[in-house]
Amino acid sequence: MLNPADTAFLETLAAALPDGTIGAVEPRYLADPRGRVGGHAGGVARPRSVAEVSQVIAACHAARVGVVPFGGGTGLVLGQVMDGGPMPLVLSLERMRAVRSVHPSENVVVVEAGATLAEVQAAADSVGRLFPLSLASQGTARIGGNLATNAGGANVLRYGNARDLCLGLEAVLPDGSIWHGLKRLRKDNTGYDLRNLLVGSEGTLGVITAASLKLAPIPAAMGTAFMVVPSPAAALELLALAQAQLGGLVSAFELIAKMGLAFLAEKMPEQRQPFAEAPDWMVLIDVGLPDGLDPQQALAAVFEAGAEAGLVLDGVIAQSQAQRAEFWALRENIPEANRRIGAISSHDISLPLGEVAGFITDAGPALAGLGDWRINCFGHLGDGNLHYNVFPMPGEARAQHENSRAAIKTLVHDMAHARGGSVSAEHGIGRLKVDDLEKYGDPAKLAAMRAIKSALDPHGIMNPGAVLRAAR
Ligand SMILES: Cc1cc2nc3c(=O)[nH]c(=O)nc-3n(C[C@H](O)[C@H](O)[C@H](O)COP(=O)(O)OP(=O)(O)OC[C@H]3O[C@@H](n4cnc5c(N)ncnc54)[C@H](O)[C@@H]3O)c2cc1C
Repeated sequence: MLNPADTAFLETLAAALPDGTIGAVEPRYLADPRGRVGGHAGGVARPRSVAEVSQVIAACHAARVGVVPFGGGTGLVLGQVMDGGPMPLVLSLERMRAVRSVHPSENVVVVEAGATLAEVQAAADSVGRLFPLSLASQGTARIGGNLATNAGGANVLRYGNARDLCLGLEAVLPDGSIWHGLKRLRKDNTGYDLRNLLVGSEGTLGVITAASLKLAPIPAAMGTAFMVVPSPAAALELLALAQAQLGGLVSAFELIAKMGLAFLAEKMPEQRQPFAEAPDWMVLIDVGLPDGLDPQQALAAVFEAGAEAGLVLDGVIAQSQAQRAEFWALRENIPEANRRIGAISSHDISLPLGEVAGFITDAGPALAGLGDWRINCFGHLGDGNLHYNVFPMPGEARAQHENSRAAIKTLVHDMAHARGGSVSAEHGIGRLKVDDLEKYGDPAKLAAMRAIKSALDPHGIMNPGAVLRAAR
């Protein structure tokens, strides 16, 4: 059983650390971006170095006090929001945001966990390199949080997710020991892979304090287009066509539905829409090409071949970098428009590419059996990752449908699972999907996860109740 981070514990800890390291809990440390629940905590630690993080964790380990690691607070599955149990200590990495070193010749950057994703991108850009992880939350989300959640985003198709971009980590383990794993190696087969265990562990196995990350060359020219497709199945055929023409140079391939455009028109009318009449389905395609290739020509060739094959009905290719940014803003504002409408239930699922179209065809009618809804299905189609979100009909509030939420979620998740999919593609498990992990997770994998958790964190202090149910 854990103890609360009470006044006596906080005062002792504060006395052992530099002034101002332990502070009061501001509301921002307890807020869920989707406003579903509020968290609680006894205090906040804001250390400035890995040594101070180690001191904090060692004290929590000794006193059996829970710790909730906190990055930018943009996580969508309540991993950073603990809303029950003994008051934990929030440990924020916001004061550890230094770029420790940049190695352009190695295509590597070493950064502290509290740097925002946008700051990591800027550090790469300053030496003529690209850090390709890209999320709508990148101005606030921190790289430690991105790694702890194994974030995905728009460019996974070409460059992989956060895990694929991580070469090494520095981390504090649940007993306060420091793991110095900041290697810059592409090959390192020296036993169990602690880096891959910590990436995606959502703060349950330790605190990531720094990371060495892979960089990529900046493409000489980028191009972006919206293409109207007759169906999600046609969109996937268009992806295959684009990849056949351009190889691995397609960076992003995003699906957008008519409902997403309608929500934008309603809640964010200042967003300029690309087509006079909103199409049922369209894709946003991003390509990044080497010197000598023209992205507009390349996209025009994809459009022509797609139109000839009946896969594209209409399209518009960005004519400038400003227009590219405008196209992307439209896609990246869909989650905000969704938030303003208010989803009854949001789902971050992934499917084998061959199952995506069938899922979309079947899920709508299946959900109609539960009631009348508006469905906004969008996402990173190239990765088989759909954000399949269910909303009330116009004039209704989501609160009217509280009783339907569980049935909607079960239906969507059962259907994704039956097709070989995942009930958490890129957001993680947090506290929101603990039941889902227990229901859909492989029993042998779950048993191994529990064994790892109790071996590394025998008192269960690290992010109690996230990913795995807290021991009673
Ligand atoms: C508008 C919007 C768009 C988004 N788009 C995407 C998207 O396209 N793709 C995607 O994958 N996600 C997306 N997200 C979700 C979110 O931004 C990511 O999950 C992000 O990686 C979380 O980073 P953070 O720093 O905000 O972490 P937090 O929210 O602070 O924490 C998330 C989890 O990581 C743990 N954690 C944080 N820092 C550390 C650390 N240093 N060491 C150990 N554990 C830690 C926390 O305890 C918690 O469990 C989006 C969110 C919003 C609000």
